[in-house]
Amino acid sequence: MTETSLRKRREACVREHMESENEHAFDVTIKTFTHPRYELVATGDVYDGEEEVWRYYRQSRTAFPDQRNEIHAIHHAEDAVIVEFDLLGTHLGPLRGMPPTGRAFRTRMTAFFLFEGDRIAIDGTTGNITIDDVPLVEPDMTEHFEQVLAWCDELRTLGIRANADTPADARKARAFGAEGIGLCRTEHMFMAADRQPKMREMILADNLADRRAALDELLPLQQQDFEQVFEVMDGLPVTIRLLDPPLHEFLPPDEDDPRAHALREVNPMLGTRGCRLAMLHPEIYEMQVRAIMRAARAVKDRLEHVPLLEVMIPLIGYERELQILRELVHRIAGEESMTHHDDYLVGTMIELPRACFLADAIAEQADFFSFGTNDLTQTALGFSRDDIEGKILGPYVEMKVFDRSPFETIDKPGVGQLVRMGAWLGRKTKPDLKLGVCGEHGGDPDSIDFFHNSGIDYVSCSPFRVPVARVAAAQAAIRGT
Ligand code: PEP
Ligand code: MG
Repeated sequence: MTETSLRKRREACVREHMESENEHAFDVTIKTFTHPRYELVATGDVYDGEEEVWRYYRQSRTAFPDQRNEIHAIHHAEDAVIVEFDLLGTHLGPLRGMPPTGRAFRTRMTAFFLFEGDRIAIDGTTGNITIDDVPLVEPDMTEHFEQVLAWCDELRTLGIRANADTPADARKARAFGAEGIGLCRTEHMFMAADRQPKMREMILADNLADRRAALDELLPLQQQDFEQVFEVMDGLPVTIRLLDPPLHEFLPPDEDDPRAHALREVNPMLGTRGCRLAMLHPEIYEMQVRAIMRAARAVKDRLEHVPLLEVMIPLIGYERELQILRELVHRIAGEESMTHHDDYLVGTMIELPRACFLADAIAEQADFFSFGTNDLTQTALGFSRDDIEGKILGPYVEMKVFDRSPFETIDKPGVGQLVRMGAWLGRKTKPDLKLGVCGEHGGDPDSIDFFHNSGIDYVSCSPFRVPVARVAAAQAAIRGT
């Protein structure tokens, strides 16, 4: 029964893959892969990753614009689906240096679709595991569950916020009992389809005037986004992180403008990102701060409650960076008639080891710290978040280097000590400095226990982890008494 449904699911995936290729709907085809990859056995060519697979589509469909397939038979193996089909097309474009011949071809082919990591679902109550494509349903907060959480809230001292970037996430966060937003990643607001062309103009602008013109168009859209989030949060604190990712991440992978090439970096995660972006292009943060302040004013005019705004600067390593960017925030806020402390605070993420060592000097410039333990883990351990998962984590757990991924649970003796030092040095300068944690660890019960015992004021995690965080924070408080 389960095997039959697994086969059905695989077959539907393969058919969607091949039909969307026929329709040139390659964005659909790409989605049928968990990891896009083609190996052409005859030539030995390998196209690995989304960018490469798009290159394959471009190349093959330039040579054979009408290339299509006709399926004859589908067979199932343990980890694969094998398809016998005819491939057809007309040679109308250049092919490996060969000029077009105009000749049509039809050839019998076999394709192996390898299935690794099929989705499985676990019933958290019974422990039953299924490979059926079970529907996803929103979890219900029952009355009893709410009662247990209410008891937890009475016991815990650690605040619980949520990482939320959209009104929908903010609503979820509130429904699960979050006491504010601890991280609103503004880059997601730039990724919506209607923003992409404007973002592209901004990134590829040749001069400041053109960049500012593109930013002026983005401003009202960003303001709208903030207004919606602020309305949902109805007076609760909202920490808004100014733009963090490197700019080339907002361009399509096949962007071939030479200015896009110039933006590419060997190691973008350690390159022109975070506050460094704004040190080089302050106009981006100026637009964001203006949008935040205008949104807050607009919401204040409409509603009784306006959130306490916490403007957060990412990836600070040097106190001078924060000094310069904090002045930028104050200048723009002043132009929008907003007042420091009454209307907004300015703080920083602490996500570089240097920021932990120099936290006393950095605190001079900050109203709050939020430990970005994802980047802090990455930079303290020298592990690339995106690269080690598939290769190093498994063997390292087997060889007992560590029990769990340090990106999942805080590495207490290493990264954890940096957090403690940062907290201690920050509070040496400002005893009331507000301290949060907004990396993934903010939703991990073990890490929550550690943060509770490190003087942290609140953790911020994904909305769905908020209930678990409330329980873990209460358990930490009980253990500590
Ligand atoms: C972090 O580094 O912990 C963080 C929250 O930022 P991001 O994951 O967006 O880099
Ligand atoms: Mg980060």
